[in-house]
This record gives sequence, structure tokens and C-alpha cells, in this order.
Amino acid sequence: MTVPPPAADAPHVLEGSEWGSELYRLATAQFERTADVLALDAESRTRLLEPRRSLTVNFPVRMDDGSVRSFTGYRVQHTLTMGPTKGGMRYAPEVSLGECAALAMWMTWKCALLGLPYGGAKGGVRCEPREMSVGEIERLTRRYAAELIPIIGPDRDIPAPDMATGAREMAWFMDTYSQQVGHSVPEIVTGKPPALGGTDVRQPATGLGVVYVAEGVLERLGWPVREQSFVVQGFGNVGRVAARELYDIGARVVGISDADGGLHAPDGLDLPALEAWADERGTVVGFPGGTPVSRTAVLEVPCDVLIPAATEQQLTAENADRLQCRLVVEAANGPTTPEAEAMLAAREILVVPDVLANAGGVCVSYFEWVQDIQRYSWDVIEQQERLKRQLRAALAEVWAVAERLDVPWRTAALSVAVSRVAEAARLRGIYP
Ligand code: NAD
Repeated sequence: MTVPPPAADAPHVLEGSEWGSELYRLATAQFERTADVLALDAESRTRLLEPRRSLTVNFPVRMDDGSVRSFTGYRVQHTLTMGPTKGGMRYAPEVSLGECAALAMWMTWKCALLGLPYGGAKGGVRCEPREMSVGEIERLTRRYAAELIPIIGPDRDIPAPDMATGAREMAWFMDTYSQQVGHSVPEIVTGKPPALGGTDVRQPATGLGVVYVAEGVLERLGWPVREQSFVVQGFGNVGRVAARELYDIGARVVGISDADGGLHAPDGLDLPALEAWADERGTVVGFPGGTPVSRTAVLEVPCDVLIPAATEQQLTAENADRLQCRLVVEAANGPTTPEAEAMLAAREILVVPDVLANAGGVCVSYFEWVQDIQRYSWDVIEQQERLKRQLRAALAEVWAVAERLDVPWRTAALSVAVSRVAEAARLRGIYP
């Protein structure tokens, strides 16, 4: 029986579908808008809208007090067309299948925009890592890695760090996978410690990439970077590196925050001193070089460039009218809701989309994977230069498409990415 393709305007994601979540609504709304701009055929829309594969696992972990707790973990692979899938794994109380599905779709577009030979994936475990000991996190990570073995592998799906995971978790993950298959497989994850086949450039790569892209955009706008003031929300893998890099190149960081609170310093924060403070106390809160503000109020501090680098859906219809910046650079994934984006556009506040701004992480992850497979290390300068070149090339492409189609940068970036993936899917055809 032939099943007719859905009409182009059919409601693709039904309420109550597996993926139903606010973040998936955001990702698919962006996709649909882009598909409309590209006049994408119904078959391509159908093939690209929903993730190709997903796994939900429930597994026991022995806690320090001897009790056993059950945790839920996910891994979602958005498209298998472009090569193995690639994407981070996060530990957070809100992790859900729908959230992973949205993040996996964005990874597909990010990889395609950068020309990397991957589809997108994302995973994570629903937990509160801040309330767990190191031993509990290690046991959780190792069991999660073992549970994912049926669908991951260096040629199948390669995880990486995301929120609340880093080199330490990648080392445990790589060791667990290697133990299961009987030999060392450094290329199973990226973001590993350099001693295990990681690269020194991976940890700072996303934050550095955010700054390379921001500099490129500011240069094109004719706004000298050293004359701009920046606010960075989030002081983790991404936000901390971005803030420090901005400070090092002579820009002013006038606001910063973490999950516990924020700081405002109109003359600029002393980042090295703030880093020392946070290393000792685990938070930026209480640092004497700035006025305390709440973690949400920091977004409304006057600045030229706002960099949300914490978590999703931070710029919303509720606060978009109160932002006092000229440019938003999305270091986090999905920090702006569609409603907020429309309000920012009406106020002529420009938005550099996440798929471009935070693509530095996956770009250097790709370098790491290639080096692991080749068993040959490139030097650090070469990797940094390649990173900058690759991001600036993507920016040039996005800029040109935005001008040609007269669309915002997000639609331009997604247009480049979606058309590449749709073309590959069309050429491969449908099996059988
Ligand atoms: P992280 O866990 O290292 O840091 C997150 C930071 O945000 C922490 O300082 C935390 O305290 C803070 N935070 C959390 N919720 C907050 C809130 N509501 N208000 C203010 N601060 C809050 O995570 P990360 O790896 O830096 O990731 C941050 C964002 O960047 C996420 O959206 C992630 O998906 C995205 N991202 C990360 C990478 C990477 O390489 N790590 C790559 C691409 C995108």
C-alpha cells in the first residue's frame, strides 16, 4: 500500500508525541520556518523532522549510603544520513526524551553548517549532579555508558561533554566502553583528558569559538570588540572560557552569573580574580568586585553584547522587552524562545544563532576524533587556527545567505545546514 506523503502544511508534530516538549517545539518551529524559506518538499520535511533512533534506559546505581536508586537516561540520534552521529551528554534534573530530541536536531544542523561528516545526537541522565558524590557520579557514568553500547561506537555515535559533564566523565565513559570491547578505544568519546587521546583545545573550544564568532560578527558590523561591553550568563565550560577570553582581548565583561546568582560591574569584572574566587567557593556569588544581582536580572544589565551561556529558554516573552543589549550571541543551545526572538527582532536586537555561535565545541571534537583514528596528534596552534578558519568560513556563508534571502541569521544558518542534509538524504534515497 502506498502511503501518501503528508501535505506540506500538515501538523507534523502531534501533541502527545514521544518528543512533545517545549524545546522540541522550539527546534521544530525553527526547522519548519527554514523549510518554508527553502520551499523544501514534503518528503524531505518528513525525513528530517523526527529523530531516526532513540534509546531510553532505566538503570540502578548504588549510592554511598548503600541504597540503590534508579536513574533514567536517554540517547537520541537525529539523522543517520551524514555519517556517525555526534553530540554531548548532560546530567540535569530536567533531562527528557523531548529535550534530547531537540538538541540532537540542532547538532545535525551545527555539524552540517560546519561541514563535519556527522549527524546530530544528544543524550543525558535525569539526575541532580550537585547533590551526588564523585563516586556516585562515576558509577552513574559507567552504567550509563554500558547501557548505551547497543547504539554507540566510533563509527556509529560518539558522545562528548555537555552540561555538568567534562573530561572526567569522558575518561570514565571511554574506560567503560574499552573494558566492554576488550581494547582501548579513545575515539569513542571526545572531550577526554589529553593523556587519554584528548586535545588541550577541546575544553576551551566552545567558549573560544563563541568569542571567534562574536569578533567576526562585530568586525562585520563595524563595532570594535574592545569598545563593547559584554554580559555572560553561566560560568561553566562555555561561559567561563568566553568571559576570560573577552577579558584577555581587552573587552569589558560587565555582568556574569551562575546558577546561584550574578554580579554587575559597569567598569568591568576582574576575571582572573573572579576565577580564583569561584575555584575556591564553587560560585561567583559573594565576589567583592561587583554588585550582586539575581541570576535572571543579570540578563537585563545594560551592555552591548549579551551572551547566554547557561541553559535553554532564558530569553522569553517575559523578559525580552527588558533586555538592554544590541546583540545576542547564543552560546547556550536554544536560549531564545520564538516569541522572544520576534520581540528582539522588532526592537532591532540582532541574534547570532546557537548553531553557529557554539559550534566550536563540535568542531574541535571532530579534530580530536580524527586525531584518535589517525593515531597522530596535531599541534595546538594548528587546531586553534583551523577552528577559527572553519567558524569564520561558516559565518561568511551565513552572512551571505542572510543578505541574499533577506532573512535573519538563524534562518540563514539553518538554510545552509538543512539544504545540505536534505540533498544528502535525497541522493541516498530510501531503503529498500
Ligand atoms: P556547565 O554545566 O559547565 O555550566 C553551566 C553554567 O550555567 C554553570 O555555571 C551553572 O551554574 C550555570 N547555570 C545553570 N542554570 C542557570 C540559570 N538558570 N541561570 C544562570 N546560570 C545558570 O555547562 P556548559 O557545558 O558550559 O554548557 C552551557 C550551555 O552551552 C548549554 O546550553 C550547553 O548545551 C551549551 N553547549 C555546551 C558545549 C560544550 O562544549 N560544553 C558545546 C555547545 C553548547
